Amino acid sequence: MGRIHLGSIFGTTIDLDFSFIILIIFWVMSEIQAAGVRYALLWIPVLFISVLFHELAHASMIGIFGFGPSHILLQGIGGVTVNERRARPWQDLFISAAGPLSSFLLAFAIRAAFVAIPRMQHDPFFAALLPLLAQANIVWGFFNLLPVLPLDGYGIVRNFLRMFLNERLAFVISIWLSMIVVHSVELPAMAVLPLLQPDGRLGHNDGNSSVMGQYVASNVTGVWAVHGL
Ligand SMILES: [Zn+2]
Repeated sequence: MGRIHLGSIFGTTIDLDFSFIILIIFWVMSEIQAAGVRYALLWIPVLFISVLFHELAHASMIGIFGFGPSHILLQGIGGVTVNERRARPWQDLFISAAGPLSSFLLAFAIRAAFVAIPRMQHDPFFAALLPLLAQANIVWGFFNLLPVLPLDGYGIVRNFLRMFLNERLAFVISIWLSMIVVHSVELPAMAVLPLLQPDGRLGHNDGNSSVMGQYVASNVTGVWAVHGL
């Protein structure tokens, strides 16, 4: 699949994979039936802004800790921020947490602006877009907090455990928690959520041991900041 280079911010490159466009098209199509064309089209800026803002928060935290620019890729499962580094566990914990936190902060800022600026409430476009954008970011934030690989919640749990335990034990506990949560909570989205490969290829989260093994091997070394959505 091809990619479009959207630009760079402080050295962090932002690319758009065509699979992200396909995701948006599918999303809009499904919303057209439920809510009509005009409302469904709002999902284009909502998905783009929500995913990009979330990934920029990860990249910003990586930059704040001095690990240099990252590479952001917007793709079919959401977004990913890749940065080769060897960070301390508490730094990786903050980098993981920055994504969901930024989604909540964006939702809060949008709601505050919407209430504070009456002109926005009277503008039909903003009156439809902003509440949807805020709501989507709250859902986005909570979804990413699930302790399920490759979501941020998994990274938070694993990096928290790495602060007290060795790499292997922290990994084993967090991967078991991930599997327990996947199997005990109904997560229809997770069933089809592909597992991101560190080299950018996509595999499916179907229990394929080689796919899982590759991900795990690179993840355990701590050099990749790969996370989903
Ligand atoms: Zn994230």
